[in-house]
Amino acid sequence: MTTTTTATILDGNKIAAQIRSEVAEEVKKLSSRGVRPGLAVILAGNNAASEIYVRNKVKACEQLGIHSEKLTPPDSVTTEELLGMVNELNRRDDIDGILVQLPLPAQVDSKKVLLAVAPEKDVDGLHPVNIGYLSTQRPGLVPCTPAGVIEILKRSQIPIEGRNAVVIGRSDLVGKPVAMLLVNANATVTVCHSKTRDLPAVARQGDILVAAIGRAGFVTKDFVKPGAAVIDVGTTKITDRKEFARFFAGDAAREKTFAEKGSTLVGDVDPHVAEVAGAITPVPGGVGPLTIAMLMANTLKACTLRRGRR
Ligand code: NAP
Repeated sequence: MTTTTTATILDGNKIAAQIRSEVAEEVKKLSSRGVRPGLAVILAGNNAASEIYVRNKVKACEQLGIHSEKLTPPDSVTTEELLGMVNELNRRDDIDGILVQLPLPAQVDSKKVLLAVAPEKDVDGLHPVNIGYLSTQRPGLVPCTPAGVIEILKRSQIPIEGRNAVVIGRSDLVGKPVAMLLVNANATVTVCHSKTRDLPAVARQGDILVAAIGRAGFVTKDFVKPGAAVIDVGTTKITDRKEFARFFAGDAAREKTFAEKGSTLVGDVDPHVAEVAGAITPVPGGVGPLTIAMLMANTLKACTLRRGRR
């Protein structure tokens, strides 16, 4: 079955590029006053996926004029050693953002390490102090992916105020902060999870539907109010041809990448949803690119809040 797209495709690459160029412009202004934003990334052990994420973050810093440093303790690193590193970065005036790439090696107390990051340098926005600021609408650092979801909606002129927004997923990383940001933007928000009854009917109430579940193509057409804006946060790699055919049969471009790579990325939303939605983010190229763009924006914000007005 071929997908007949009627929805507007919300181009995350384009929106991320706009944000990156705005950040680069601000970084230039700050640097001309002798203040260069700096990001330190701690990458512990050898995790292939983490190495790629960190490489992309460091590359983005270079492109935008942000100073970056990568600290690479070995797999055997202890909680105390990591706490020492974080504390040293907390003390340094030239470092505005500290990012501890997860997962940390198994013997490390990850929560303890994350809690040690100074809230004003917590560019992931996940420190309880920043979550508290978010829920009480105080200036602070907002988690990157959720902030990206809101940027997509706002920059695509999708109205939020007074609309019904449904968020599927309640993780600390995505679902809860997205819901809080939508409440702060005056939407009426419903948060769904694995215990929600009659999920499709609840989801169909959404003028805005955000899916952050982690299950390939879970949100089908019957979850979607015709004309709704659908934001797909999920990313799952699929390798099974049958599964591929269920989502992408007749899509020549996908067929080509699948044949070349033996895999493709699918979101939480079945691509056929584009037949009923009013607007939809693609996977890849939707929410994904916003995450690094918002990390860059957070590093700039952390710098401006802490030392930009000296
Ligand atoms: P998570 O911590 O596993 O949370 C998943 C949430 O989905 C949970 O709240 C869970 O409910 C809910 N859920 C699972 N199965 C469900 C079902 N059958 N019906 C209703 N709700 C269900 O995942 P996450 O960290 O939020 O990530 C979600 C997805 O976003 C993943 O695919 C991840 O890879 C992706 N992601 C993408 C980016 C990006 O940059 N694009 C960034 C972060 C995450 P319960 O709470 O009841 O268990």
